Amino acid sequence: MKITKKIFETAANEGRTFILENEAKEILKAYGLPVPPYDTACTAEEAASKARKIGFPVVLKILSKDIVHKSDAGGVKINLRDEEAVKRAFVEIMDNARNYGAQRGIQVDLSRGVLISSFAEMGTEVIVGVTKDAQFGHAIMFGLGGIFVEVLRDVTFRLIPLTETDAREMIYEIKASKILEGVRGQPPRDTESLVRVIMAVSKLIEENQQISELDCNPVFLYERGKGALVVDARIILEPSAVTHT
Ligand code: ADP
Ligand code: MG
Repeated sequence: MKITKKIFETAANEGRTFILENEAKEILKAYGLPVPPYDTACTAEEAASKARKIGFPVVLKILSKDIVHKSDAGGVKINLRDEEAVKRAFVEIMDNARNYGAQRGIQVDLSRGVLISSFAEMGTEVIVGVTKDAQFGHAIMFGLGGIFVEVLRDVTFRLIPLTETDAREMIYEIKASKILEGVRGQPPRDTESLVRVIMAVSKLIEENQQISELDCNPVFLYERGKGALVVDARIILEPSAVTHT
């Protein structure tokens, strides 16, 4: 897809393998993945006016090639309810990012400003990730968010490309799968939307082999019929994709 190629070219020209969240979301959108409305801003004033256009509440997140894990750098502020809160959050995020750099002895690039995103209603957190193995190529990973992946390692993998049947099997073979069927009076989750997310990620990778890592983490999965939203997206390119010859 044209937009994907353009974004990867820009990254290559800037000598970075890390695709910023706004770029990653642009790519996901082009592949039909659902993301909350977003925009970008380079000043507190601009962030506030863009937030008003998107509609409150919003989330602000740092956009920097030097910050891959935004929360770790104090680079995420959620549930901002008015323009004042957005302006304050902007200043805090920039301060945090500078401190993060200072502690590591690096100068963090702050020129890209922040992502402003609509604050998504909480859903069941799932993760759809992609890793690349030198021998086997790209594999897609699926699991539930938080402790399920981090502590229990309750995840499942398939090589890309995969079929819709593969995607459905993945969803049902994790140990915590029952959570998606609805437990303790909770309605079942929209697993058909989840199948579509997995299939779209598979297609995106099939067509862009220079991706070394992709993470949709978290994806919020809502009750059946209410869809899913990819709330955070990280894409990293192979180093060879950005080296000039
Ligand atoms: P990172 O993984 O780089 O630290 P995320 O974008 O995942 O940053 O943000 C951290 C957390 O903030 C997410 O796990 C999610 O709980 C919350 N969050 C991020 N964006 C949104 C959003 N648009 N709506 C609601 N919650 C969000
Ligand atoms: Mg994340």
